[in-house]
Amino acid sequence: FGLKKELEEQIRVFPDFPKQGILFQDLTPVFQNPETVNRLAESFISAFDGKFDRVLAVEARGFILGTAVSAVGGRPLALARKKGKLPGEVHRADYSLEYGTATLEVQQGTLKQGDQVLVVDDLLATGGTLSAAGELVVTGGAKVAGYAVAATIEGLDGAERLSPTPVFSVV
Ligand code: IMP
Repeated sequence: FGLKKELEEQIRVFPDFPKQGILFQDLTPVFQNPETVNRLAESFISAFDGKFDRVLAVEARGFILGTAVSAVGGRPLALARKKGKLPGEVHRADYSLEYGTATLEVQQGTLKQGDQVLVVDDLLATGGTLSAAGELVVTGGAKVAGYAVAATIEGLDGAERLSPTPVFSVV
């Protein structure tokens, strides 16, 4: 439908970035278009029927879409950040990336017991990042309502890795 086409027209593809053999999907043109960002946020919210209490946004491009979903949907925003960025006590989850390994952290006490959390990022590849973010939600005592991304790279089984939790992806 309309939004899918809109995104496909805006996403740029860069071969061999950041490493040889990676076909990098560049979403920065999407972020230059406030109406597309707004429609993306609305599509995430309606995909889950508004049934979430909080948004967990994944650093760094997930912050952009997560903030939009939080603001449009009127739900509080929580941040899953890369290692060493958040002060105070944190929950931690290690994961492997399509290129490299990393650790995600969330401040303890950010996610409320029993909260249904929508986890937002820009793109799903292998699912390692969202799976780690989902672990942080559970460690924090909350539940994952679902995962929402603008785009998914096909053939890497990211959604299967996150199953049975629902994943919404526009492209
Ligand atoms: P995964 O953990 O393998 O699912 O990779 C997804 C994470 O890596 C997300 O946080 C993305 O922002 C980033 N990522 C992986 N591949 C791409 C890409 O082609 N374009 C933009 N981001 C990517």
